[in-house]
This record gives sequence, C-alpha cells and structure tokens, in this order.
Amino acid sequence: MAINGSSQLYGILGDPVSHSLSPAMHNAAFAEYGLNNVYVPLPTKDVGDAITGLKSLGFRGISVTIPHKQTVIPYLDSIDPVAEKIGAVNTLIIKENRIHGVNTDWLGANRALQEKTELSGKRVLLLGAGGSARAIGFGLLEAGAEVIIANRTAEKGKALADLLQCSCASLSDPGGVQTDILINTTSVGMTPNIDATPFPKKYLSHFSVVMDIVYAPQKTRLLAEADEEGCQTINGLAMLLFQGAAQFELWTGQKAPVDIMRQHLLAGLNK
Ligand code: NAP
Repeated sequence: MAINGSSQLYGILGDPVSHSLSPAMHNAAFAEYGLNNVYVPLPTKDVGDAITGLKSLGFRGISVTIPHKQTVIPYLDSIDPVAEKIGAVNTLIIKENRIHGVNTDWLGANRALQEKTELSGKRVLLLGAGGSARAIGFGLLEAGAEVIIANRTAEKGKALADLLQCSCASLSDPGGVQTDILINTTSVGMTPNIDATPFPKKYLSHFSVVMDIVYAPQKTRLLAEADEEGCQTINGLAMLLFQGAAQFELWTGQKAPVDIMRQHLLAGLNK
C-alpha cells in the first residue's frame, strides 16, 4: 500500500524494537485486506511521553513490548479485566483520544493450544514463573484449565502459584506430576543454547500435548524430544502469530489473515 494523507497509524512501542517481526506481520495483514494502514517500530524510552505523542499524532493501535508492558498501565483510560489481573498490557486501542489496554499474549497462547486440544478441564504443568508464565497462567484459568507451576527459583514459583491460586511442583522431581499438557515458558533452549532443555525426555510421554513458547529455534530440543515420545507439539511461533492475529482483530474488527501473517513471520525468522 502507498502511504498517504489518509493512512491510519499503528506501531510497536518498546526498547529495543529494531528486531521485531511485528511490522512485517501486521503490514502484510493490512495489505492483504487493502487497508490503508501502516505499522511502524517506535523505539521508546519514556512511555509517558510516548503516550502523549501517540494521542496527539492520531495513532489507532499499538503493540507494547519489553520493557513497557507494565509501566504503560498508569497511562491507560481503561483496561481489559484479564489484562488487569495479569498486570501487563501488550495492545493499545486508541479511539477518540482514549486508550484501552488489552493483553493478547494469553489469547495467543490459548488459541495456539486450542488448535490441538480442548483446554477446559485439562491439567497443565507450566514451567517458569516470569512475565509469560503469568499471562499464560491467567489465560489457562480463563479457559477452565487447572494449572501447576514449576520454576527454577522455587519462591518465585510459589508466588505465582499463590497469585493464580494453584499448586506448585518441584523441578527436581517432575516425574510425579500427572498433567495432560506441558508448557515451557522459560528461555531454556533458546538460540544460542539450543542443546539445553527445561524438562527430562524420560517423562515427556506422560503428556499428550507439549508447547514451547521459545520461537528461535522453531523446533527446540524439548519439542524434538516430545515428537520422539509421540506427543502433539506446538512451537513458539504459534503463540507469536495468534497474539498478533488477536491484535489485528481488535484493531480492524475483521478476521485476521493468519496464513499471510504466518508466512511473513517465518520469512523474518529465517532471515
Ligand atoms: P522472564 O519474565 O524473564 O522469565 C524467565 C523465566 O525463565 C523465569 O521463570 C526463569 O526462572 C526461567 N529461566 C531462565 N533461565 C533459566 C534456566 N537456565 N533454567 C531454568 N529456568 C530458567 O521471561 P519471559 O518474558 O516470561 O520470556 C520467557 C521466554 O518466552 C523467552 O524465551 C521469550 O523469548 C519467550 N516468549 C515467547 C513469546 C511468544 O509469543 N512465543 C512471547 C513472550 C515471550 P527464575 O525465576 O528461576 O529466574
């Protein structure tokens, strides 16, 4: 699409954002529907100043990434109830000078999982207790799943379990945990440490579905071993894609062209 005086502005606010795959994914989606929208990276140190600028420049929608997912919250006019529980926002919808904050990370994780499995009534072992675990944990509860947290630093695991009102398991004795689904939300196995895995292979056959939210590499050691053990596997690209698809749908009111968005994400990752 040619950019002109009628183009509607979208972007990603964070620091850094130069590596982000979101501009390629969203611009391709806008072009697919012939929307006169443009999505740009917005490297941002001061989130308060940025919000004032976004409003005065007439931006319509924003993705928010590290380190501003929490610090943006005081500047919002309204917030989605699940995002409020999570305590982090990754999507802004700007209408009539008012900013509404949403979290689509949990929506992306749930949609990636729901392509392969029901969530209601399922038991899920969640590895990690960082920002992603918190969003995914609340999302799983929204979908009616039962969550068990296991984290390297036990106190942090316990703190998240208390917040989610769920139980904890020890990472040193994971064999005793009986759940349907395993999700890795830690950075273990991410490039360049691709030989690392957050969970022993010998217990993987206990799970019917294994998801890894690490997306570089696309097939982590955890997923390769889960494949070998006969589990259904879901890679980190799926969550990335579907959190972006949910943003597109919130901004445009149209169903996201997920195949086109996936193609552009893959092209970016394979560069
Ligand atoms: P975070 O808040 O920093 O949390 C990191 C988690 O990983 C903590 O639970 C930490 O445990 C654990 N961890 C780190 N190194 C470890 C190790 N060597 N052994 C065991 N546990 C370890 O990070 P985050 O924002 O949640 O992101 C986590 C990962 O998810 C990153 O790889 C990120 O790229 C990926 N991610 C993917 C998507 C997607 O859309 N696919 C979205 C967001 C994030 P401690 O508490 O013990 O430190």
